[in-house]
Amino acid sequence: MKNSWKDECGVFGIWNHPEAARLTYLGLYALQHRGQESAGIVSLEMTEAAGSKPVHHIYKSLGLVADVFKETHLNQLRGLSAIGHVRYSTTGGNLLSNVQPLTSNLLSGPVAIAHNGNIVNSAVLREALQRDGSIFQGTNDTEAVLHLLAKNPSTHLRSALKESLQCLEGAYSFVILAHDRLIAARDPLGFRPLVLGRIENSSSLSYVVASETCALDLIGAEFVREIEPGEILEISSKEMVSERIPTAAKSNSVSVRKSAQCVFEHVYFSRPDSVVFGRSVYNSRKRFGHQLAQESQVEADVVIPVPDSGVPSALGYSQTSGIPFEFGLIRNHYVGRTFIQPGQGVRDVGVKIKLNPQPGILKGKRIIVIDDSLVRGTTSQKIIQMLRAAGAKEVHLRIASPPTVGPCYYGVDTPQKSELIASMQSVEDIRQFIGADTLAYLSEKGMWKAMEGGPETFCAACFNGDYPTSLKGVEIKKTVEKNI
Ligand code: AMP
Repeated sequence: MKNSWKDECGVFGIWNHPEAARLTYLGLYALQHRGQESAGIVSLEMTEAAGSKPVHHIYKSLGLVADVFKETHLNQLRGLSAIGHVRYSTTGGNLLSNVQPLTSNLLSGPVAIAHNGNIVNSAVLREALQRDGSIFQGTNDTEAVLHLLAKNPSTHLRSALKESLQCLEGAYSFVILAHDRLIAARDPLGFRPLVLGRIENSSSLSYVVASETCALDLIGAEFVREIEPGEILEISSKEMVSERIPTAAKSNSVSVRKSAQCVFEHVYFSRPDSVVFGRSVYNSRKRFGHQLAQESQVEADVVIPVPDSGVPSALGYSQTSGIPFEFGLIRNHYVGRTFIQPGQGVRDVGVKIKLNPQPGILKGKRIIVIDDSLVRGTTSQKIIQMLRAAGAKEVHLRIASPPTVGPCYYGVDTPQKSELIASMQSVEDIRQFIGADTLAYLSEKGMWKAMEGGPETFCAACFNGDYPTSLKGVEIKKTVEKNI
């Protein structure tokens, strides 16, 4: 698996709104936690009445949403419809040529695409397409979809897309803007979230598609429903059409699973104020905390979260255990999510920049610290050192998810297996490494209980190594070759 293809992203699209680009900007702002390295918007201006063709306006660059877009850019992004993208990529992938939305001119007209997820058979696809003459601009997996669309004999975009998507294996939530329609599509296992919303006023009806409901909330859009796993939803001025991606040619794993929605969206990745896969993320995290307290009680004076992602679970732990909740670590909110900055050195400094311990809460106390997950272990190690330096008598670390044992190939940036401390070491070894008095994780069973679901609905490959697709997409190589 190439590192440059492991992307964390957020996508947004809006159809038929006079302030399409500005609402896309706001939507991306709400989705900023899903990717901080680049941002882009493509708008669609329909100028047919004036005698010319519909045109796409594009602005994208490396950086945070608020840094990338200035007033002048938004003014230039004219039109009633738009799509946008925020992206984080691992080292090597942050080239301008990879910044989305990607655009192309097909026989049917201009098309722009924004993708959240990771296509696991993209190497197979790329090679087959290159052998057939396609010239790739970047190193990302999304571009292959544009080439598949270009090669499809149908000039009807939805039909071409339906066939092209059958060549893909892995995770994709797409928003696509053509010259006359907006299309949202989600892979048959529904790894990544994608929701539909609407804004209605006296004179117009607008549709919105976004990775998370927090983006709908910000722009005042009403939640309609999720884009279903395996659904292609087309929105145009004439109608709204929903179709299914045929899955017959897919590997066996697809047919035995109903879906493989990413449980890590609930553990860490999504915002707690979002409703993801029909469930409140905040409630899931609180339930992880309740469950954790039932599984691994320890005598202590105070429960503190590692803010922000540990807060709901710490509340849940405190409520179930009866041990008071306090903020023993105060977060500086003007620092980015330090884990996301590539380079070990930066991350180590980052923990101190981001979190400040409060001796007034910690001194002489037995502390239970709750974090959402433990990946490499370096953050926890630094935090425990800081808590002890601030006078904590005992530090008991509780992790509101099971041990992270496997990398994600479906769009969350987890390090490779050798860097995942739980894939190499026992809980006791990890406890010693991080310097805690005790360490306990939420059990996988406990996680499923809290989620009121199980491995037939959710993907938890990072916690149990059970990958719902073949990782190289070899099984569908023949389908790819047939379709190219
Ligand atoms: P560490 O154990 O030092 O690698 O860091 C673990 C912390 O990183 C956890 O507390 C999470 O809040 C955060 N984290 C876990 N997974 C990710 C991810 N994919 N992207 C960014 N941060 C993450």
